[in-house]
Order: sequence, then structure tokens, then C-alpha cells
Amino acid sequence: MNDCVFCKIIDGSIPSKTIYEDEKIKVFMDINPVANGHLLLIPKKHIKDITELDDENLIYFKNIINNKITPMLKEKLNIEGLTIIQNNGYGQEVKHYHIHLLPRYQNDNMETRIEKENIKNVDLIYEELSK
Ligand code: AMP
Ligand code: ZN
Repeated sequence: MNDCVFCKIIDGSIPSKTIYEDEKIKVFMDINPVANGHLLLIPKKHIKDITELDDENLIYFKNIINNKITPMLKEKLNIEGLTIIQNNGYGQEVKHYHIHLLPRYQNDNMETRIEKENIKNVDLIYEELSK
């Protein structure tokens, strides 16, 4: 039995507030939003994360975001930007690939980085990466 919460959203056994759907994807409201209009875009085919994503789907997601979702958010919520986040491995709670679409508004003060005290000096990290 498939225990994936997003597969259950796709088959309708878990309800969702869906704002766009076609044969390949579903876009619905995040249940615990970190921005006004926080949406999740998921493929209907279960894949785990970016390592299982093919080029065709990646381009498809981009086109839906550009041609359908962003215009709708601009028209209906007057968004002024869109921050896109996609977690893989640590930090990914639901292991069904999903893109977070986070509408941005003037002076919304969104903080997306990890705690300041856990950020090392950029030169130290650059040194590690350049070895
Ligand atoms: P991530 O940490 O990237 O895996 O994000 C998973 C996201 O899924 C979180 O932002 C949750 O709030 C959201 N989420 C979990 N269950 C549901 C659900 N049943 N309906 C809508 N969003 C959900
Ligand atoms: Zn799934």
C-alpha cells in the first residue's frame, strides 16, 4: 500500500484546496503556509526528489509556473515576486517531489536562510569547495 500523503491527495482520499490541475500535475494550497498564497506543485507520478526528475517534466513545470500560476497569482493576489524552494533529502518532510511556490509582497520580510549563527564564513566554505 502506498502511504504517500501527496499520492493520496492526487487520488482524492485526502482533500486538498486545488487551484490548478491537468493530466501531469496538481497545484494546491500548503496546509501550513509560510507566505500568503503558499502553493505546492506536484507531479501526479510519484517520484522522490530532484534525482528522479526528468528534463521533460522540469520544463513542463517551468512553463506551467510561468504561463498559468504566476499570472493567476498576479491577477488575484497582486503578488510582486515568487520565491521557489524545493527540498531534497534532509529538510524534505514529504518524499514525493514538490515545488514550493512562495508569493512575495513589498516589505514581507521573508527569511529563508538557516539561523545566522550556523552560517560559516564564506571564505572557509569556498576553500572546502575548491580543494
Ligand atoms: P517539505 O518540507 O519540503 O517536504 O514540505 C512539505 C510541505 O507539505 C509542508 O510545507 C507541509 O505544510 C505540506 N503539507 C503536508 N501535508 C499536507 C497536506 N495534507 N495538504 C497540504 N500541504 C501539506
Ligand atoms: Zn507520492
